[in-house]
Amino acid sequence: MDFRKKFVVEPGSKVRLDGIDPSYTGKIDGADEAEAQTAQDLERLRDLQQKLYAEHARALLVVLQAPDAGGKDGTVRHVFSGMNPLGASAHAFKEPTAEEKAHDFLWRVHKVAPAHGHVGIFNRSYYEDVLVVRVHDLVPKEVWSKRYERINEFEKNLAQSGTRIVKFFLHISLEEQLRRFEQRLTDPKKQWKISEADYTERACWDDYVHAYEDALERCSTERAPWYVIPADHKWFRNLAVARIVADTLDEMDIQIPPPSVNLGEMRRKYHEAAGA
Ligand code: AMP
Ligand code: MG
Repeated sequence: MDFRKKFVVEPGSKVRLDGIDPSYTGKIDGADEAEAQTAQDLERLRDLQQKLYAEHARALLVVLQAPDAGGKDGTVRHVFSGMNPLGASAHAFKEPTAEEKAHDFLWRVHKVAPAHGHVGIFNRSYYEDVLVVRVHDLVPKEVWSKRYERINEFEKNLAQSGTRIVKFFLHISLEEQLRRFEQRLTDPKKQWKISEADYTERACWDDYVHAYEDALERCSTERAPWYVIPADHKWFRNLAVARIVADTLDEMDIQIPPPSVNLGEMRRKYHEAAGA
């Protein structure tokens, strides 16, 4: 299945998240089949990342947004598994510091955007500035409502300097979120993640849905498409994200640069002479 076609938010189209089933798994027959397919995509991803690193002319930026417990951390670990760390960067966006708040909202973003040759992943992003900021009135509407246009311009700027951008909204249900919170309560390895704010935020679920829908509608473009990934099943989410990232890199037709030295001469000078 072409996951890009299936899950892309077509530029200019309307998005109704309640019409998209978070537990969708298509024709994939359970976790085992998904994991077998995912392993192949991760292999492609590793090869393509090496080529991107060698080419050193373009970059890939992966943006992840999701409700709490939506699977952002797990997706970062998964997509990066096996990648060359020298050509990868990940950045988690938290509440802005005083210094960051004293600048425009893209100031802290631009400097951590991936350099040529790199794959960068954002765990949350500048989209928080039209999500949590909008839902909780952290700045006046007059300020956040102008940001969609700023975001589109920013992404255009990155694209023009060689950065491909793919953006994923990990779509989970309110029920699945509560199940995951409960797992955190019982799993000692996950308890550190629990925050009461995660529970109280559930009261704002509908406001977040509207804010997400607006961001998806206004900021899905050819150069920086949004994908809505059904994410109640982690194995399906991992498969869909790995496939879409690998297909995107594939489409970039990355070229390993030709050697910068004369190979025959190198062989003659340093190998044949040494063996003679
Ligand atoms: P976590 O991802 O659980 O580590 O939490 C990070 C927190 O930072 C979340 O509650 C986000 O809503 C918050 N956050 C991220 N970006 C912003 C922003 N631009 N303005 C306000 N809060 C933000
Ligand atoms: Mg959290």
